[in-house]
Amino acid sequence: MKKIEEYVRSIPDFPEEGIIFRDVTSILQDADGLHLAIDELQKTLEGLDFDVVVGPESRGFIFGVPIAYNLHKAFVPVRKKGKLPCETVELEYDLEYGSAVIEMHKDAVRPGQRVVIIDDLIATGGTIEAIIKLVEQLGGEVVKISFLMELAGLNGREKLKGYNVESVICYE
Ligand code: AMP
Repeated sequence: MKKIEEYVRSIPDFPEEGIIFRDVTSILQDADGLHLAIDELQKTLEGLDFDVVVGPESRGFIFGVPIAYNLHKAFVPVRKKGKLPCETVELEYDLEYGSAVIEMHKDAVRPGQRVVIIDDLIATGGTIEAIIKLVEQLGGEVVKISFLMELAGLNGREKLKGYNVESVICYE
């Protein structure tokens, strides 16, 4: 059986020079790869008591929803500004170039709920750091953050210090 690493296509210099893009579509387009990715990510939550999976647009949806479904938990989408129809909390955070604003529905996480955040990949950690702030603003407790891939060289974990962070594959 192939390992999950073998399904990841790495594209040098995309979207710009110097970046090695770790492509999840090459995992998803193979039935075994998709199965393995969901299973391996789900394993990081084994034995954990939690209420809600939170996932950022858009690759966090791909991995977050099947896991929430399998474990019979709720799923809460984090979206780019302007997409959610009801009252939201929002936060602006820095990207490598420029900034972004993300939003969550105000009623999506209730005070005291135990939250797991799932995304495809941690690079600088900026996106997840912003999501943690939104979840905590709503009174949720972040009990685990799981990624399929981690780019360790970018030191994103430093931003998530004090949280329970796990990734399935780690690239130096
Ligand atoms: P960050 O906030 O820097 O941790 O990264 C946010 C998102 O950017 C990740 O969840 C990925 O979807 C995407 N991303 C950043 N760097 C890469 C990369 N080298 N390959 C693939 N996706 C990336």
